[in-house]
Amino acid sequence: MVVVMEERASEEQVQHVIAQLVEKGFDIHRSTGQLRSVLGAVGGNRSFDTRLIEVMDGVHEVLRITEPYKLASRTFKPERSAVSFDEFRVGGDEVIVMAGPCSVETEEQIAAAAAAVKKAGAKILRGGAFKPRSSPYSFQGLGEDGLRMMRAAADAEGLKVVSEVMDVSQIELVVGYADILQVGARNMQNYTLLRELGKARTPVLLKRGIAATIEEWLLSAEYVLAGGNTDVILCERGIRTFESYTRNTLDISAIPVIQKLSHLPIIADPSHGTGLRDKVAPMARAAIAAGADGLIIEVHPDPDHALSDGAQSIFPLQFDRLMAELRIIAPAIGRSICLEPVARRGWGA
Ligand code: PEP
Ligand code: MN
Repeated sequence: MVVVMEERASEEQVQHVIAQLVEKGFDIHRSTGQLRSVLGAVGGNRSFDTRLIEVMDGVHEVLRITEPYKLASRTFKPERSAVSFDEFRVGGDEVIVMAGPCSVETEEQIAAAAAAVKKAGAKILRGGAFKPRSSPYSFQGLGEDGLRMMRAAADAEGLKVVSEVMDVSQIELVVGYADILQVGARNMQNYTLLRELGKARTPVLLKRGIAATIEEWLLSAEYVLAGGNTDVILCERGIRTFESYTRNTLDISAIPVIQKLSHLPIIADPSHGTGLRDKVAPMARAAIAAGADGLIIEVHPDPDHALSDGAQSIFPLQFDRLMAELRIIAPAIGRSICLEPVARRGWGA
């Protein structure tokens, strides 16, 4: 941390600040210029509240140099991390796509969704069984029945499963069915849940909170990592802004920002990020062009009758087209993506 003193700060004020920093465990390197003193404070505690110094008499500005998170940072681990599954990794060179309905609704619906997304090249089936709905009167998900249906549909197609866990009490159950535990935007700051997920050995997909800064998001990831679970995938899903033409504002710039600050893989969710079906493909293309390690996309066999998020769910045909476009974009930025549509591979057999 660097403490810049005011020009008119007295020697007594400077000494007072130094004493306070030393008491908090910092080593001080002072440089005294013609106009002002600057204090370099090294060591101390990463979670030190710099405002304690900022409010002291004679202090002009306090600049934090080390990030408040550690395990999630590039400083701690300079090389990129990847989360490995049997035949692929999220965070490697290959762009990985997770797709499926917002909610698991029926056996037929999830089976049709699984077949469609697999055919187009997705590797992971998404679908909520526990749904964090804004209204308590909206469809809340099928619970364990939904998880069972989704696991069967994914297994039939050779897909992995990502599904949301909303509460500590659901972890054990969801771990039994899913390959990735999704923490929804509304739960990004549920620290009790994050701590418990740190004890799990199933990868976690951590969505960015609706009003969370990137630093808060990385601190949430830190909770999971600090618990010993190193498999964390970040997901930019749009933040709330003043804009009303879209449901959220997908913060594409968060992708390169995260990649500079952290070694963790990051994917984008253009479905919740825009809330509108016709905006999903353009934003998905943009996210991959910006360097995202993958996408999570809502695809429904009959979106107009979906029990949740129908307006932002794309048709299987639109998903096919999008995957074809991504096959052009990914190599242009040095990434690969499931090259052959799975259906085409089958034709020669
Ligand atoms: C979802 O994935 O369906 C969902 C509810 O996402 P979010 O937590 O980002 O709103
Ligand atoms: Mn949804």
